[in-house]
Amino acid sequence: MITINEHYLKLQASYLFSDIARRVTAFQEMNPEKNIIKLGIGDVTRALPQACVEAFHQAVDEMASDTGFRGYGPEQGYDFLRQAIAENDFRARGADISSAEIFISDGAKCDTGNIQELFSQDIIIAIPDPVYPVYLDTNVMAGRTGKYKDGRYEGIVYLEATKENGFVPQLPKQKVDLIYLCFPNNPTGSTISKDELKTWVEYAKENNALILFDAAYEAFIRDESLPRTIYEIEGAKEVAIEFRSFSKSAGFTGTRCAYTVVPKECRAFDKDGNIHHVHDLWNRRHCTKFNGVSYPVQRAAAAVYSESGKQQTAELIRYYLRNADLICKEIKALGYEYDGGENSPYIWIDGKRNSWDFFDLLLNSTGVVCTPGAGFGSCGEGYIRLSAFNSYENVAEAMTRIRRELG
Ligand code: PLP
Repeated sequence: MITINEHYLKLQASYLFSDIARRVTAFQEMNPEKNIIKLGIGDVTRALPQACVEAFHQAVDEMASDTGFRGYGPEQGYDFLRQAIAENDFRARGADISSAEIFISDGAKCDTGNIQELFSQDIIIAIPDPVYPVYLDTNVMAGRTGKYKDGRYEGIVYLEATKENGFVPQLPKQKVDLIYLCFPNNPTGSTISKDELKTWVEYAKENNALILFDAAYEAFIRDESLPRTIYEIEGAKEVAIEFRSFSKSAGFTGTRCAYTVVPKECRAFDKDGNIHHVHDLWNRRHCTKFNGVSYPVQRAAAAVYSESGKQQTAELIRYYLRNADLICKEIKALGYEYDGGENSPYIWIDGKRNSWDFFDLLLNSTGVVCTPGAGFGSCGEGYIRLSAFNSYENVAEAMTRIRRELG
């Protein structure tokens, strides 16, 4: 008899985006003349940088001749991209990461979801609340949690991010083995200082734990004092894996390219306490289960690091951050408290009421779509997330409507 992985049955159906879609469709049917503005989804809206498009085209042309053609590439990624990443994203910032420690992939979603399979079944896992749901669901699928009860899974240590702690979770009181952190954060837009990040690195060292650091929104950091990578913290190479993506930094959500840094020193242990290199395990997994990212896509990603690519991606980020500035200014003027928006495309707003009530109020009175915070975890209740990913004109129109209705 073929039997299923019953841990899948514990998963809560994600009603969040289907619920949003259902309410938006109902509203549109009732108000066919109304132009709905979506500030809910975390997907970029602007075209790929020209430098990436040109490199993409050129690489496709190479594939069109027998001499330029490439078949299976190295699973870890082509050297030209791994070297450009190591040089520009790490060594230029004083973080000693080599190209051999970088694994190119088709998404930070896949990598943050797959990494857990390297670790044993009985580890204790700490996950933020609110959270990007992939960290939690992939551990549920793997059988590392108990049942879902009163909004939470048994067996998970939840790291609460609240107004009181500035949406930066505090160190857990109990001992944990694997820690998920995400800064700049999705959904709260909060950031972490070097000193705060240092306490996590120290915790991981003292407790033989490992940090999974999701820096998918690193490109949005404007404050020069903030860490751009966890490897700016001394000793982090031993205890941290970092995830990055071209999705938001260069508009690659539909093109697909990301990478994961697993330093050679990064360690984990077997049952007898012997040290093992996580790098070797991830390399083994990557080579066994992943075919690599296509050559043209890797060429397009490498163009991000050309002179024109750097200018064009900086311009993309500036565009979205200008939207974020406008949202923050208007929300503040309306007397709402918020976090994020400064070094992040997300603005996390205290709606002063139930998340879904605020969602309905915004949709029905202004035609603007947000994301209810409760969909990201129980600490998100009472909040909504607005995203800066839209055209400036749409954001301006959305904020004018919100000012008119809620002001
Ligand atoms: N990590 C976080 C925190 C995200 O918000 C997202 C996408 O929204 C991802 C990772 C996924 O990135 P990718 O498009 O590279 O899979």
